[in-house]
Amino acid sequence: MQTWTSMADIQPNVTKMLMNSIKKDRISHAYLFQGSRGTGKMEMSLLFAKSFFCAYRDGVEPCHSCKDCNRIESGNHPDVHVIQPEGQSIKKEQILHLQKEFTYTGLESNQKVYIVEDAETMTVNASNRLLKFLEEPSRQTVAMLLTENGQSLLDTIRSRCQVMAFQPLNPHQFTQKLIDEGIPESSARLMSAITNNLEEAIELSNDEWFAKARKLVIQLIEVLQDKPSEAFMFIHNHWMTHFKDRDSLNMGLELLMLWYKDLVYEHVGHESSIVFIKERERLQASSYKWSKQHARDALTHILEAKRKLFSNVHPTLVMEQLLLQIQR
Ligand SMILES: [Zn+2]
Repeated sequence: MQTWTSMADIQPNVTKMLMNSIKKDRISHAYLFQGSRGTGKMEMSLLFAKSFFCAYRDGVEPCHSCKDCNRIESGNHPDVHVIQPEGQSIKKEQILHLQKEFTYTGLESNQKVYIVEDAETMTVNASNRLLKFLEEPSRQTVAMLLTENGQSLLDTIRSRCQVMAFQPLNPHQFTQKLIDEGIPESSARLMSAITNNLEEAIELSNDEWFAKARKLVIQLIEVLQDKPSEAFMFIHNHWMTHFKDRDSLNMGLELLMLWYKDLVYEHVGHESSIVFIKERERLQASSYKWSKQHARDALTHILEAKRKLFSNVHPTLVMEQLLLQIQR
């Protein structure tokens, strides 16, 4: 359950604008909530609907316990409709059905809220149908269109909506979101260092190739630390057979950078920033052997290697030169 205070932590700008419009009783007929998955668009819509219907509001904050609030929370309020794609798209029939529902006066009031999830999946017919609906708004109807890509909506629809841009979560919030989605903290931290796209993060955390990549980075560190004379052999026999092309090797280097950043954090005692939290012992051991400066130099060398990689130096050569520089 979200409150205006908790939403303000995630989406300060949008929260402020919406709270103001409720306070001043200047609610638009249509909003377009635009932002990537996991940025709180649905949560915001439901909270807004609660404030809209709750008769026991304290300022802007709904009571979260009356009949209206409870029914919105559990998804069966008679005057709050949520439309989702059926299969790949939202179809004309769904919009028609919605309009039919609206012609009955509200069971409890004249107020209606409808939320269109993944609005960009509306077919052309559905879009045109919805447009007609938006053009003749009844006074107490609020539409909330949710989308990851507002550009793919009809201009005529966009122009009738108040557009609200949902910003990406910061890494800390993103990590928490991933943990809420059931991803272990050790994975969640690493993912949020690599991407802020929820879908991609969930995909990567279930990806065997990525799990192996992560393991190889730890193994390379072990080799560099314990058996440096075998480092070249390790690269040829294990590393390059997994990171077969430039893009995949780039990911390998990205992970290696995260490990050296962790080593810097270990040195300065910045625990909460460490992403390889499962490797704390290894990090501690490394910090005795390798100085903070060594880690910083390694980071510079890895950045340089990434540049070479995309200026057409052969990937194997990039790795060999990198190892020589790190071991110097
Ligand atoms: Zn309430």
